[in-house]
Order: sequence, then C-alpha cells, then structure tokens
Amino acid sequence: MDFWKQFISGRPKDRLPFLDKDIFPSEYVPVDLSVNNVEIQGKAMGNASICQSYLDTVLAAEKGKVAFGGYLEERNLYASHANFNLPEAQRRTVHLGVDFWCTAGTKVLAPLAGRVHSYQNNDALGDYGPTIILEHQWGQHTFHTLYGHLSLDSISGLEVGGYFDAGDVLARLGTPEINVGYAPHLHFQVILDMQGLLGDYPGVAAKKDLHFYAKNCPDPRTLLNF
Ligand SMILES: [Zn+2]
Repeated sequence: MDFWKQFISGRPKDRLPFLDKDIFPSEYVPVDLSVNNVEIQGKAMGNASICQSYLDTVLAAEKGKVAFGGYLEERNLYASHANFNLPEAQRRTVHLGVDFWCTAGTKVLAPLAGRVHSYQNNDALGDYGPTIILEHQWGQHTFHTLYGHLSLDSISGLEVGGYFDAGDVLARLGTPEINVGYAPHLHFQVILDMQGLLGDYPGVAAKKDLHFYAKNCPDPRTLLNF
C-alpha cells in the first residue's frame, strides 16, 4: 500500500476544521460544474458574475452557504482564459482540486498542522491569485496542501517555515479582482510531490497527463472527510 492510502486509512473519520466555524456541515452543498451538467451548458462560466449567479441558484435551492466539488471534473470553465487556449490535446480541462465556492472574506482554517512550504501571488488572469502551500509531515513522509484564490492580506507577513496548528486561521477568500477573475472560492488541492515548484502547482491538467496528476494529487475529500 502506498503511503497516502496508509495515512488516510489510519485517520479519524470526522470532518476536519476547514472554513469558518459558523458554517454548519449541512450548509455545504455539492455542485457539478462539469461539461455534463446541462444547466450550465452554453453559459460563460469563466465569467465571475455568470458563474456566481448559477452558484447562488444552487445554494438558495439547498439553503447552503458553500457549494463544493470538482475533483477530476472536466470543465469548460477555463476555455475563455488565455492560459488554457492551447491545441485540443494539450488543453488543460480536468480539475485536480476541490473548489469551495462561498463569500469573499470567508476564513480558511488549516485542516492539519503544517508549515508554510511556499506562497506567491499568481496574478495572471485565470490563475490562482494569492496562494499558500503548506507542508505536512507523517513519519518520514511529506505531503502538501494548496490553498488558491485567497485575499492579498492572506500572504502579507507570511513566513516560509511558519507553523499553523489544525484549526488555526490560515487565510481568507479573495474577491474576483484579486483571485484572478473567478467567483469567490477556495481551490484546495493535495499534492504529494511538489516537483520542485514554489508557490504554485498546476490545478488543472490535460487528459493525457491525468494518470500522473491523479496519483500525485489524491482526492482532497478523503482527507477532509467531506
Ligand atoms: Zn479550483
């Protein structure tokens, strides 16, 4: 068994601390932003306000505060951003993290104790905006969690190596002007091997590269117990 499976199988099955404690577990509502969802076909979901009005509909119908989902989801969301305008075979359309769509300013708590591996403002349109990566230790094994689309003040005064305990306030969600061009949400991703990168890691992959990325970026819901 690889170390990640071993680590997960030994974890308690309670939900980890994650977003603002005022949000009840029942207020997290799954959302489908995949190419298969007929409700969003033909909608320019890469536009923050069009995306937000769809999310508002989903949240209102379910009396939720956070719409979440997206692991290994194939999306059209990125098609309008220049970063993803590549020949079809190389186009990055498969989402490697889980997104938590909720109000800008919402607190993000560290789900596990860890140290700041790196951080950066990835401010190209369609990228992550302010991003924090934590490093976690389990025995001699190391893995990482990435938090994207944060507010600018989330990364000011941050120090590489700085320690966060589980449940500490790590960051807050950014606005579309800062996050860069999306409806407010947290992109959360587990990354086993950072491949030498700092402050950034692909959050979307081309189908042809999925074999590698799906293994290196396991399902965050199994860690958070969502
Ligand atoms: Zn995302």
